[in-house]
Parts: sequence; C-alpha cells; structure tokens
Amino acid sequence: MSADGSGVPGADAFTRPYWEAAAAGRLLIRRCRDCGRAHHYPREFCPHCWSAEVAWEEASGRAVLYTWSTVHRNDLPPFGGRTPYVAAVVDLAEGPRMMTELVGCAGEDAVAGMALRVTFRDGVPVFAPGR
Ligand SMILES: [Zn+2]
Repeated sequence: MSADGSGVPGADAFTRPYWEAAAAGRLLIRRCRDCGRAHHYPREFCPHCWSAEVAWEEASGRAVLYTWSTVHRNDLPPFGGRTPYVAAVVDLAEGPRMMTELVGCAGEDAVAGMALRVTFRDGVPVFAPGR
C-alpha cells in the first residue's frame, strides 16, 4: 500500500509512465546515460553497469523475431480466451530483448529474424509483421 492510499505499490508507480505511454500507443524503453545501453523490461538501475542514471526513451517500435512458441492452453485469465496465441521474444532495434506476443502471424508461419512492428492491444505492446 503506497503512502497516498491508492494501493499502487512502488514498482507500479515506477512503471506507470511505461503503461501510460503504451495506452497512448507509444513504446518506452530505458536508456542508461552512463554506458549508453538500453534495456527492457524497465528497471531503476542499468542492468549493464548498475548506474542509476537511467531515463525513459521512446522506442522506434521496430524489432526482429528471436524466438516464439504457440501456446494452446493457458488457464490464467485473460489468456484462456485467447488461445492459441504466439508467445514471442523479440529483439528491439534499440537492442533490448523483450518478451511479448506475436499477432497477425500464425506460429507456423513465423520465421526467425522476420521484421516486426509494435502495435497495441488493450494498452499492451504486441508485435506484428511489418517494417
Ligand atoms: Zn549503464
């Protein structure tokens, strides 16, 4: 429980800019001012050099497919109503590797290295084929 009584824990307050941007159709990543490397998921400290000089940055939304797996069954809501879906790991153009979902492409049609573009579904970034 946070001090303002909203019930939002610290981690959620930290990632709030990320989700607000996603709701507006923008993908944010974090970039370190010390070593210059970007990372995802958002962390308060740079995972490469442990600097705290890390800032939000809007990503290009371009990525390439690294690996993926078609999920046929998932009892956890909201996934149950969406099976099958394609869980994917993509490499963002800025460098970070991101766990996401592949849309607009069946798992058997996916190819490693294929160009993807971010799109948003219910405020959550997912990736579809495209440059
Ligand atoms: Zn760094």
